[in-house]
Amino acid sequence: MRAALIREHGDLEKVEIAVLPMPEPGPGEVRLRVRAAALNYLDIWVRNGWPGIKLSYPHILGADAAGTIDALGEGVQDWEIGARVAVDPTISCGECEFCRAGWENRCVRFRLMGEHVSGTFAEYITVPARNLIALPEHVSFAEAAAASLVFVTAWHSLITRANLRPGELVLIIGAGGGVNTASLQIAKLTGCTVYVVGSSEDKLAKAQALGADATILRDVEGGWSRAVYQLTAKRGVDVVVDNVGAPTYNDSLRALARGGRLVTVGNTGGAKVEIDNRLIFGKHLSILGSTMGPHRDYVRVMRLLFKGKLKAVIDATYPLDEVRTAMARMEAGDLFGKAVLEL
Ligand code: ZN
Repeated sequence: MRAALIREHGDLEKVEIAVLPMPEPGPGEVRLRVRAAALNYLDIWVRNGWPGIKLSYPHILGADAAGTIDALGEGVQDWEIGARVAVDPTISCGECEFCRAGWENRCVRFRLMGEHVSGTFAEYITVPARNLIALPEHVSFAEAAAASLVFVTAWHSLITRANLRPGELVLIIGAGGGVNTASLQIAKLTGCTVYVVGSSEDKLAKAQALGADATILRDVEGGWSRAVYQLTAKRGVDVVVDNVGAPTYNDSLRALARGGRLVTVGNTGGAKVEIDNRLIFGKHLSILGSTMGPHRDYVRVMRLLFKGKLKAVIDATYPLDEVRTAMARMEAGDLFGKAVLEL
């Protein structure tokens, strides 16, 4: 079976399509015939590598997948061969104190598809059966794959961690990223007013089409943080979604109202930030970090997708052979929503 993989860290050139042996499902696992796999910024981080990352090579990239069940491992009884399914990308032990409390994404042995274990850019993969959700006929494999990681991440961050409430003001830093387009829809569905800061008029127009109430150009004269302050009658917003990091963090904190919350699930622009602590205590601010979401959040948000309350934003689909093209576009910040591989 064919897969997109790396044999060492590095740039785009390290990504290759290769033929690997068919994976066999272990106890409690199924083998999936992957029909769609979505790209995430995570794939670029993993490809580039970071100090301490340990992969077993060849390493298949990719965290998101949807497809049909192809084989059942020992002890799997609740699923049938041929069933259409999507995959929760968080792999957990099911036994530690956090798993037992229903916080699979806080598992002490937390692993993520495509990062700590073999990923989804392959014709066949094996996954724990407990990670599956049944996919209704009217939802495409591409939509399910495109939605999985970013929607569970955005839902957990905004709803579970930040306890988002109707009527609150939400500012999203960045228009085009998958988590941002998911956060925008979740905030609108909750009944919030949503502001989006973006790098181009084109992306901002698309954010508006997705429901943004007001948009602000990143390079607006006087700075976007000040523009938010003015748009909110010098009040500030209740919640900022900041997954950029170093270049935007302090402006995000300044854009918050008293008692505001900054939620973060990543940092595409740099991880190390110097913060003026007076902002934190003086304005009663909270910084809420999270990664992925527990399985119950995955099920909840995917059901909203299945009902049409949320929609997967897909920029383009590619065959597996064009994984590098898709990855290059994501790396260039060229996408609005997701790039999806169709297999
Ligand atoms: Zn655990």
